[in-house]
Amino acid sequence: MKVHEYQAKKILRDYGVRVPAGCACFSVAEAVQATETIGGDRWVIKAQIHAGGRGKGGGVRLARSIEEVASHAGDILGMQLVTHQTGPRGQKVERLLVEQGIDIKAEFYVGLVVDRASQKVAMMVSAEGGTEIEEVAQVTPERVCQFTVEPGKELGAADALQLAQYIGLEQGSARNASTILQQLYRAFWEMDASLAEINPLVLTNDGEVIALDAKINFDDNALFRHPEVLQMRDLAEEDTNEIAAANAGLSYIALEGNIGCLVNGAGLAMATMDIIKLYGGEPANFLDVGGGATTEQVTEAFKIMLKNPNLEAILVNIFGGIMRCDVVAEGLVQAAKVVKLGVPLVVRLEGTNVELGRQILQDSNLDMITASTMADAAELAVTAAGA
Ligand code: GDP
Ligand code: MN
Repeated sequence: MKVHEYQAKKILRDYGVRVPAGCACFSVAEAVQATETIGGDRWVIKAQIHAGGRGKGGGVRLARSIEEVASHAGDILGMQLVTHQTGPRGQKVERLLVEQGIDIKAEFYVGLVVDRASQKVAMMVSAEGGTEIEEVAQVTPERVCQFTVEPGKELGAADALQLAQYIGLEQGSARNASTILQQLYRAFWEMDASLAEINPLVLTNDGEVIALDAKINFDDNALFRHPEVLQMRDLAEEDTNEIAAANAGLSYIALEGNIGCLVNGAGLAMATMDIIKLYGGEPANFLDVGGGATTEQVTEAFKIMLKNPNLEAILVNIFGGIMRCDVVAEGLVQAAKVVKLGVPLVVRLEGTNVELGRQILQDSNLDMITASTMADAAELAVTAAGA
């Protein structure tokens, strides 16, 4: 699960990390009001969306007067912000963060991820923080230092200080930064994060070290331990079909192609997408109806797939293991009665009670193309989608 920058900063603040004074706002009036609460004479207006690269996309702006705050807030609120992480359609901005403006002397990068290869949490730091960090990581990876922490242990003071010195900080600033690194690590570990990033961590003209940006992603499997994090969920940032699918107990991920896939089991779903691509097609979605899908779930799955305007064909690929083919076939027939398909349907059933399942489909007079093997099914679906 992802949260907004202002929510990530609240968590970091609770762990002692210094962040700029700021207020989350939902309107221009609130943004203007925030300048009073924050004080000072310069403010930064920041679009709150679940994607990075906002600065480059025009979603982070400096204001030197209250009039400028109002004008920037008006421009950003409601805008369709396009960044390298949003895709071409962008993401609508519905929340702002208004913060005190900070004088930046230097920008650093700090990131934490679960490194599956070493089975540890890896901390990455770089002296080249800021909006060009992706470029730095790609062109000059030697400028990013990686350090892994032993599971169950803290990030030690000596290690943290070394990392702070590596990015070029000295004396008091290095000590301040090392404390932030330790606090960030503790937040990451205790909150069951999967990713955390402060980019930039800045050195101010007064020698202070402060987190100017913050991003935290959480491990969904651990959210039951963190109801306060679950409260931060912003459904407006999530795909409506993915939410509907999750509510129906389906695993659904929207993709760019035109062949809808309805499959049982994540492995088979992955293999189905692979074979569609092998035959020159593009899957419209990943959809795993699980091991014991009901008629209602299959119906819901069809409904969700059919909401996609790019859909040109549907491929149902079921291997009946625990789930019996006759139950799936019954579900398909019932679902097709409720929803108007409107696109060619290719069905491949295999496994337990397959004969009975095929009989049910045949007797239903449901308009569909039956396939025997996966390759056969993929080829038929690709042809159907292209026709
Ligand atoms: P991102 O582009 O989505 O990562 O958004 P950031 O919060 O990182 O902001 C992008 C850039 O805006 C930062 O790297 C800074 O250079 C700049 N920026 C953000 N806040 C301030 C501020 O308070 N003062 C100044 N001078 N620059 C800022
Ligand atoms: Mn940033």
